[in-house]
Amino acid sequence: MKIAIVGAGIGGLTAAALLIEQGHEVKVFEKNNKVSEVGAGIGIGGNVINKLNNHDLAKGLKNIGQIIDTLQVRDEKGKILSAVKLKDKTVNLTMLRQDLIETIQSYVPSSNIYLNHRINKLENSPLKVTLHFEEQQSEAFDLCIGADGIHSIARETLYPESKAEYQGYTVFRGLVEEAHLEDNNVAKEYWTSKGRVGIVPLLNNQVYWFISINAKADDKTLKGFGKPHLQARFNHFPNEVRQILDKQSETDILLHDIYDIKPLKSFVDQRVVLLGDAAHATTPNMGQGAGQAMEDAVVLANCLATYNFEEALQRYDNLRVKHTKKVITKSRSIGKIAQLQNRLIVAIRNKFIQLMPNSMIGKQTHFLYKTKSK
Ligand SMILES: Cc1cc2nc3c(=O)[nH]c(=O)nc-3n(C[C@H](O)[C@H](O)[C@H](O)COP(=O)(O)OP(=O)(O)OC[C@H]3O[C@@H](n4cnc5c(N)ncnc54)[C@H](O)[C@@H]3O)c2cc1C
Repeated sequence: MKIAIVGAGIGGLTAAALLIEQGHEVKVFEKNNKVSEVGAGIGIGGNVINKLNNHDLAKGLKNIGQIIDTLQVRDEKGKILSAVKLKDKTVNLTMLRQDLIETIQSYVPSSNIYLNHRINKLENSPLKVTLHFEEQQSEAFDLCIGADGIHSIARETLYPESKAEYQGYTVFRGLVEEAHLEDNNVAKEYWTSKGRVGIVPLLNNQVYWFISINAKADDKTLKGFGKPHLQARFNHFPNEVRQILDKQSETDILLHDIYDIKPLKSFVDQRVVLLGDAAHATTPNMGQGAGQAMEDAVVLANCLATYNFEEALQRYDNLRVKHTKKVITKSRSIGKIAQLQNRLIVAIRNKFIQLMPNSMIGKQTHFLYKTKSK
């Protein structure tokens, strides 16, 4: 089958790797002049490693990943509110984003990737889909996989009314060398009335940190925030957070507003199928956006290898739409709870978290492991 993939991100390249292996004629179109990832580190949940099963890519991810076995939530004094042990039958990993994309890309021959190819328009019909490029040429395919991220042109073709929705908070992110944390297997979040701070260990004593604060969309004041502003705002935080901010370089602090989309009813229409953020962009509270994009790719490739064309797309839709809807809604609610600001409500929330058994908190994510692969 002749397949076009729009977007050489985590989802698009994973799909390309698997579909090329199955013998399809695959072209990946990327608007940028290189394949790269913006953002410091990323978590790839054990659910993704399980879905990849024995595929070599799972080994590749394990080679670049730091194993995380516990997720802690602490208050601003550093007191542990919850410490959830991650499922022990799999591995949860954290890694540099650039390492992740390069590892996936190593499974896709460069001759299959067309850089500087922005897709402007898709023409969908029962027997073929035609892609129109910025430079005005066009090409027809049997199938187009829209893996072009949250502002997807492919989604716009299927659902012109679906738009990215701002969730009320923005995230600073950075990367620190020689962090020397107490425990490299524990990822921590400090939930406070002034914002949420994450400290995520990576391999080789590196640490990925994030600070998530409530703000209006595209806040110009925050855009000017540098290291000293963050140090001043979080100077009352536990030592560990202050030390990490001290070690951060003056530059390379990223800032991104957090958006998601309302769950869609279907990811499939005739010869177009949506995948990753294009299909189900979610807030980062569960650390699942990229993971779900990779799972989509595995499930789509498995379905195309197992069923006839129509059945395969139908099966993909059945398996992925409901599941990713749950991820979007759960992740949104976690964000609402974690971003609370009122001091009294925060104190009540924290007490409540402390009283909840860790096993009960852990169960909230068990559904991630229960989806079928084809
Ligand atoms: C602060 C933050 C933290 C996060 N942390 C995690 C985490 O820990 N774990 C996790 O799993 N997820 C996390 N995510 C989510 C994750 O980054 C995304 O879900 C993931 O990158 C989506 O991958 P994708 O391939 O679907 O889309 P993208 O990565 O957006 O890739 C889309 C690609 O399509 C290209 N493109 C777009 N339009 C066109 C066009 N018209 N023509 C051609 N090419 C086009 C783009 O240039 C891009 O290369 C986080 C997100 C944020 C904001």
